[in-house]
Amino acid sequence: MPRYVFITGGVVSSLGKGIATSSLGALLQARGYKVRLRKLDPYLNIDPGTMNPFEHGEVFVTDDGAETDLDLGHYERFTGVAAKQSDNTTTGRIYEEILAREREGKYRGATVQVIPHVTNAIRDFITAEIEDVDFVLCEIGGTVGDIESLPFLEAIRQMRHEMGSEKTLFIHLTLIPHLEAVGEMKTKPTQHSVANLRAIGIQPDIIICRSARPLPPEERRKIALFCSVAKESVIEGQDVPSIYQVPLFYHKNGLDDAVLAALGMHDAPKPDLKKWRKIGKRLEKPEGGVNIAIVGKYVGVRDAYKSLEEALIHGGMSQRVAVNLKWLEAERLEEKNGIHHLEGVHAVLVPGGFGKRGTEGMISAAHFARTRRIPYLGICFGMQMAVIEIGRNLLSMKNAISTEFDKMPNNEEPLIGESSEWEQPALLPGVEKPLSKSHGALVGLATGWEKEGEFITRTTKSLRGGTMRLGDQETILIKRSLIAQIYNINRIYERHRHRYEVNKRYMPAFHKEGVVMSGQSLDRRFPEVIEIPDHPWYIGVQYHPELKSRPFEPHPLFKAFVGAALEQSRLV
Ligand code: GLN
Repeated sequence: MPRYVFITGGVVSSLGKGIATSSLGALLQARGYKVRLRKLDPYLNIDPGTMNPFEHGEVFVTDDGAETDLDLGHYERFTGVAAKQSDNTTTGRIYEEILAREREGKYRGATVQVIPHVTNAIRDFITAEIEDVDFVLCEIGGTVGDIESLPFLEAIRQMRHEMGSEKTLFIHLTLIPHLEAVGEMKTKPTQHSVANLRAIGIQPDIIICRSARPLPPEERRKIALFCSVAKESVIEGQDVPSIYQVPLFYHKNGLDDAVLAALGMHDAPKPDLKKWRKIGKRLEKPEGGVNIAIVGKYVGVRDAYKSLEEALIHGGMSQRVAVNLKWLEAERLEEKNGIHHLEGVHAVLVPGGFGKRGTEGMISAAHFARTRRIPYLGICFGMQMAVIEIGRNLLSMKNAISTEFDKMPNNEEPLIGESSEWEQPALLPGVEKPLSKSHGALVGLATGWEKEGEFITRTTKSLRGGTMRLGDQETILIKRSLIAQIYNINRIYERHRHRYEVNKRYMPAFHKEGVVMSGQSLDRRFPEVIEIPDHPWYIGVQYHPELKSRPFEPHPLFKAFVGAALEQSRLV
């Protein structure tokens, strides 16, 4: 049976619980243990898929097509373990399942209640599908004291009661503020937060104290005494320059030792932290730098492009350079002479996005990069905007747009659109007639794609993911293309999250203008990659490579993109 480590947060949100959980996962792995990391989100949305990036940051997509919390991205990057749908749940999802069961009469007339039905469903989620792991690290979203977190805290309290202190562990992460006026660090908020936890029956075993400064011995003593934890279990969590330095920092401050001691694992192997030391050094001592512009629409919120930022850092690490990111609000490029913001950058990246706002700015950025021969990487929306730019300027499709935000003029077939706008609805295996608008639940789109031999239908009514193409899918790369050289392989699997497609019927005309479709979906219906051979480095991809980049395995596309920016920096 695995051991369960529960991580809660106190005082304020955004303290780095996700990074602390990921770091502990990495430290346990470094001792040879197998870990699984999970996140329980107390909000009512079924998943963050429909949430505004300004509100909730990036939506992290897993191989199995789940739209999850961005902390799962950190888990993957730190531990290398691919996250799954079964690693993230929300109050909304738990209730959705319970209410469906209730409607089906599965509770046999019982009154359905928070305790035991919701708490049992939470426990089932925590303990499901965990064969072959030594530790399950389970982060509870939100802050202790929130009304929504109560059922989650009750569920983990019950697990401790039943499994005991050698199989379960509570870590509480809090803030120790520093009051400038008196020049002191204050432990009172932490004491209150722990008192809150105790009121619901949870006594933390370990307290991680997040702070901007070192924790003085007196404050440590106070926290230990008033919160009833051993002094060695009060762990300092000071800010460090890079998240990839956090595991070593926590190790130095005794986090993994305290965890193992609390669980009675006294003969645990020593950790091998060589790889963490190596990347720490690389980050500290870059041999130069490149300036990369990111032209997006949620740039005011760093979390909105979390995986992208990390993937660029990984690309920089593999090239041994620092990547200086210039975050540009796409709408600024729409202003008079707005394009000057891109002067002097070594590469341009247009990331994923939804909706019309800022698209003309992104199209200008793609135009700038193409015509000024500056490396360009368009990701998902960024590829679609590049295709529109090329359509308008090289193919004289004056009003090329995506039907996501407009109609094509004169009823022309869309350049970017939902594939049902130009394709005959696909035949499902075993279905005689094409599915059509009148076909019951499958209203609207009846096209789809193939995945592992199965036909996945894209329907406007499917509950999860709506009409999106989601998750890991195979792409066939054209031999000898730049993209195939970058991956050094002709078949790749990358994660998708989009509704609209580039219309393949226009690709021959693009080809004539020197723009090559160098990757397409397994069923050969959708362009997945475009490139311009006669350009120093110009690539658009329909998928999200940033979701698979890891510090120890930088994604080849980001490595190559930063490499191209480096080349560019040597020219100017
Ligand atoms: N809005 C576009 C689509 O749905 C692109 C989505 C994205 O960039 N992830 O196709």
